[in-house]
Amino acid sequence: MTRIFDDPASFADDALDGFAAANRRYVARVDGGVVRSTEMDEGQVALVIGGGSGHYPAFAGLVGQGLAAGSACGNMFASPAAGQVYRVARAANNGGGVLLSYGNYAGDVLHFGQAELRLNAEGIDTRTVLVTDDIASAPIDQLENRRGIAGDLTVFKVAGAAAEAGLSLDDVERLARKANYRTRSLGVAFDGCTLPGAEEPLFSVQPGHMSLGLGIHGEPGISDHPMPTASELADLLVSNLLEDKPDDAGSRVAAIVNGLGTVKYDELFLLYGRIEALLGKAGLEIVEPECGELVTSLDMAGVSLTLLWLDDELETYWSAPADTPAFRKGNVAARAHRDVQELATAAEAPVEPPTEAAAALSSGAVALLEAARAVVIEHEDELGKMDAVAGDGDHGIGMRRGVDAAADAAGQAAADSAGADRVLITAGEAWAEKAGGTSGALWGSGLIAVAHSLGNRESYGPEDALNAASAFSAAITNLGKAEAGDKTMVDALLPYIETFTARTRNGDPVADTLAAAAGAATDAAAETASLRPKKGRARPLAEKSIGHPDPGAVSFALIAEALAHTFQELTTKKEQTHE
Ligand code: ADP
Ligand code: MG
Repeated sequence: MTRIFDDPASFADDALDGFAAANRRYVARVDGGVVRSTEMDEGQVALVIGGGSGHYPAFAGLVGQGLAAGSACGNMFASPAAGQVYRVARAANNGGGVLLSYGNYAGDVLHFGQAELRLNAEGIDTRTVLVTDDIASAPIDQLENRRGIAGDLTVFKVAGAAAEAGLSLDDVERLARKANYRTRSLGVAFDGCTLPGAEEPLFSVQPGHMSLGLGIHGEPGISDHPMPTASELADLLVSNLLEDKPDDAGSRVAAIVNGLGTVKYDELFLLYGRIEALLGKAGLEIVEPECGELVTSLDMAGVSLTLLWLDDELETYWSAPADTPAFRKGNVAARAHRDVQELATAAEAPVEPPTEAAAALSSGAVALLEAARAVVIEHEDELGKMDAVAGDGDHGIGMRRGVDAAADAAGQAAADSAGADRVLITAGEAWAEKAGGTSGALWGSGLIAVAHSLGNRESYGPEDALNAASAFSAAITNLGKAEAGDKTMVDALLPYIETFTARTRNGDPVADTLAAAAGAATDAAAETASLRPKKGRARPLAEKSIGHPDPGAVSFALIAEALAHTFQELTTKKEQTHE
């Protein structure tokens, strides 16, 4: 349990403030997380890591020389919002581009992914390497579906050292990918963990037992076992990992015995001794092992074993010196401190004053978002019920929260005389941050993509509308990776874009194009009833969903119709005032 706090709701932020205060030598607090407070070389790649809080020393404790340049820190066990990742990455960037690296969890993928799109759109070359080391979370032929646990450390360490050595973004990315491919972990839990302020643990393990393959948030394990001896536990972890070797494994490994929060160091060391003997017996040579708490899970009782199968290149970077609040290795020549105020300013993109056309467009953008808000409110209950058929029933409330926040933020930005691009970026950020859920992150990214596509131009025409719609669609498919037929909003979005493109090519006025495209989306949304879900939360209950339309497709079509209608009204009004 957690004893020391004022308000459980602000626990993560309050703890991060204190962490930064205690570690000014290493880090500076910026909006959304922390960045390295020591100087970096001009053009040095910035490794930006992150994820939910509650995993210390992951992630903020790994920021410093030879490791990460910044960490975006979400709430307890919750992904940082895209805006947080974006701001930390901007502050961490030194002109060499950004590598985002984090454990493979749906929320993180969406939020970091949205930040990546935005950073790239602003000209900051940004790439992503997901950590997927947990062998219990998916079979060996589905490496990309595995989640990230203590293997975070090996991937971050290799990438951070490569960045410090001055390698290019291409090389840092390649090495991080290789380190991830060659990192395999397996963990066990003896008891659950409790969020600050909560009465009950998130999960529990039967007394006298352990659960094999439990994740770092209490995700279900693969099997329960009576509590083994240390030697038996060592054997179980080692034998499972040796069966899950990467190709070209070689015989040199970095080994990490990681404590998840409340296992004593003496116990970890005892286990490490047994593991080392077993690895030796298997003909392996251990290189610079780690034994301690490196990626924890609040007060969870558990341990994990990680093996990084080295080659020469990986060994160089695994062994390189580093100096961070929680991870130190070798001798690092101390570097001067950076101007903390400057870092905080770098987190925000500079704002250009809008052109006349962009300023004029901003009131239209607000009106369209208001129309979206009205139609979502009108159908909120219905969308919730639709999502309850096979999902979790929150699509109505999620869309409502998102569009409410977006329309409010847009209204405010427009009142501050921002152009349409700023208005939509602010709206997209607010939508993703407040909605929660998959659809919120997707809609938020879509709006931000529209903003970047529209930009701050001298004039706008039908081609710009088509480009904006296509940018919306590309953001959603790039982030969500859903394809036609998966039964998601993409099944309404693709026909929408198809009609949009055809009508624009035909020279139709934007108002007619919007109406025709919305019609295509509405038809397609209705047709999703016959599909079986292949993405998102509805997938496990696929059978139940057949015969019912996809809620995300329906809400998209409703909004498309409302936009078309409002655009028509705005155009008519404009024509009347011109007469
Ligand atoms: P959650 O699924 O997180 O509860 P919502 O209920 O708000 O979020 O949204 C559910 C909708 O999100 C689905 O009906 C589907 O249309 C859409 N969706 C889910 N996953 C994806 C994806 N990967 N790509 C596109 N749309 C998706
Ligand atoms: Mg839902």
